[in-house]
Amino acid sequence: MKPEVVIVGAGPVGCSLALGLAHHGVRSLIIERSREIARESRALVIWPRTAELLRDWSAWEPLLAAGRFTTVFTPHDATRDEALLSIDFCDIDDSVESPGVLFIPQYDTVRILRERVEANPLCELRYDEEAVGLEQDEREVRLRTQGENGGTTFTAPFVVGADGAHGFVRHALGFSLQGATYSTRVAIADIGIESHGRTYPSPRIALDAPGLLVGIEYAPGIWRTIASVAPSTGDDAALAPEAHAARIAHLFGEQARSAQVYWSSLFRIHRRHAPNFISGRVALAGDAAHLNSPAGGQGMNAGIPDTANLAWRLACALRSSQCAQALLVGYDIERREMQNDSIERTTDLATRLAVYAPPSLKRLAFAWMRRSLRARGMRRKACRTLGMLDGRYTRSPDVDTSHPLAGRRIGDVALDNGRRINEERRGRAALLCCGGAQIEGVTSLALAKPPKRWLLKHPSAIVIRPDGFVAAVIEKPTRERVETMWKRAFCCASPLPGTETP
Ligand SMILES: Cc1cc2nc3c(=O)[nH]c(=O)nc-3n(C[C@H](O)[C@H](O)[C@H](O)COP(=O)(O)OP(=O)(O)OC[C@H]3O[C@@H](n4cnc5c(N)ncnc54)[C@H](O)[C@@H]3O)c2cc1C
Repeated sequence: MKPEVVIVGAGPVGCSLALGLAHHGVRSLIIERSREIARESRALVIWPRTAELLRDWSAWEPLLAAGRFTTVFTPHDATRDEALLSIDFCDIDDSVESPGVLFIPQYDTVRILRERVEANPLCELRYDEEAVGLEQDEREVRLRTQGENGGTTFTAPFVVGADGAHGFVRHALGFSLQGATYSTRVAIADIGIESHGRTYPSPRIALDAPGLLVGIEYAPGIWRTIASVAPSTGDDAALAPEAHAARIAHLFGEQARSAQVYWSSLFRIHRRHAPNFISGRVALAGDAAHLNSPAGGQGMNAGIPDTANLAWRLACALRSSQCAQALLVGYDIERREMQNDSIERTTDLATRLAVYAPPSLKRLAFAWMRRSLRARGMRRKACRTLGMLDGRYTRSPDVDTSHPLAGRRIGDVALDNGRRINEERRGRAALLCCGGAQIEGVTSLALAKPPKRWLLKHPSAIVIRPDGFVAAVIEKPTRERVETMWKRAFCCASPLPGTETP
């Protein structure tokens, strides 16, 4: 199989990209240096935005079967053993297909995604090959790898570096991660808890601890603890059995014991990103492009949406080479804006509060959040922010931002035929005709009464991209105006639905 895209790295992001590309009919090859999957739990949650993308690529059901899905997210105060607040994703069940959070350790996520990739005829996954060389010209990219059987060179129109924080591809492009590293060290451990028949609500936050101390149960009886470490504590002491025991006592009470520490390590946490996410025909995605603090579980969940943006762009670029650069520039601008202005800000705020604020301020912050969540609008906003459904592309060259809905993810509402938008378009571009709009000769979705919060004038047509973002809102639409906006969104590389020539 001659790949159209070579992906470096079969982590959650590289595998998602291969599945996203296959969804658009694009052949890809993943180069992965290690067959072994890291046993640390790493990312523990899949938020609704990631869930809807994985569902589009037929990977959601096996993940759902392997993890624990809950519609209500209720962090508990470990000291007082009471709920700090409760976020019920059913508050947005009119705009997401999976209103809830899936708890699943990253090694299961990666295992399942790799299985999906291996089962897909448009994807090839090669293990035990390490990317070691990269060259490109205006037509193609050459990637050199080193494996057990010596060196190989792969040639493809595009290469994507999904090779993680210390990835080769970013270095080969000459980019280093810019931003800041937090002053605190963080001790992370996966620990089995002897509960003597007691069940402990998860996640648990020790609000009275100095700094951050959180416990998240990701498999029955197995918890991830995350604790900031005081500057005066040495690295060895921070990971000593007594240190884990003290954290467990703080989180679960004196009677709780650790049955087994499966794994523990000390980390620095960062908020950093590459200066650009593309260079010529090479793109970066996931940790290779950006690193967040794990506060809010928005590391892996920030990387997988990169691939939804990139997959349709690469598919269009392969169809229409004169558009390739413009499409990749759109990826660079949009995902950097989302990362810097939305995800990084949210995780930074959460980190500062969790790590540096005194317990009294944390209690005040939770009391304020509890009070604001009495209002339905705030509850919906909290679900969207936590679920990573918020954020807007305001600087994109291919989004017409004159309407406030444009540049945002479209709410997955029910159509006139009773089916949801995402169910109908399943990861493909679509034209949504609202308030009785009709465009002759074009296959479209119909919604007579769109939600008031969309601020539409009737009739209107909405151009929805494959990644679920609104490219344009066209009031009083005509076929000509829809065609203009469609071309702008997809750089003339995608025909209007229903007008494709066989
Ligand atoms: C301890 C820890 C805890 C974390 N907790 C959370 C959390 O709670 N929530 C959250 O959302 N995120 C968390 N993260 C972050 C999350 O794990 C990452 O965001 C996620 O793994 C990024 O996925 P990726 O595919 O971009 O990179 P990776 O998962 O790093 O995958 C990169 C892949 O590329 C391969 N590779 C690297 N170099 C090469 C090369 N030269 N050639 C071939 N293959 C190569 C690697 O073997 C690897 O398989 C945590 C991370 C750590 C380390």
